[in-house]
Amino acid sequence: MSAWIDVKYIRFLGVYLNLFKEKQQNLWNFRCPICGDSTSDATKCRGYIYLYNNTYLYKCQRCGDSRPFVSLLYIISPELHKQHKMEVFKENHGGKSIRAALEPLVQRGLVTLPSRSILKDRISAVETLGKPVSEMVIENRR
Ligand SMILES: [Zn+2]
Repeated sequence: MSAWIDVKYIRFLGVYLNLFKEKQQNLWNFRCPICGDSTSDATKCRGYIYLYNNTYLYKCQRCGDSRPFVSLLYIISPELHKQHKMEVFKENHGGKSIRAALEPLVQRGLVTLPSRSILKDRISAVETLGKPVSEMVIENRR
């Protein structure tokens, strides 16, 4: 679905992670940022991001921390997490209007949108405000 976006952000995330490397396709390894990984061996890397059931997951084989990759992204960089969310949203709703994309949130009562008639009134109010000016320009050309 939007796997390529996830992969892009896993690579961005790698900038913040110690000894980050892509082991193979859909498998990344680095020092666990949650527990800090081994204190005696600075080269031990027991944090993994891998693909499971179409979802990228994080797992540390030292502390056992386990979470979706997006959750790790949020912990490491809330700003990157926000950008990721927006990109996934755009990818999933690229063909839809904002109104159609927001519809599920409206149905759950999380968002209220002005009714179409209110919007129409606002648009026509703006248009009538602008009309005399544009008409004047056209009339002056004649
Ligand atoms: Zn750990």
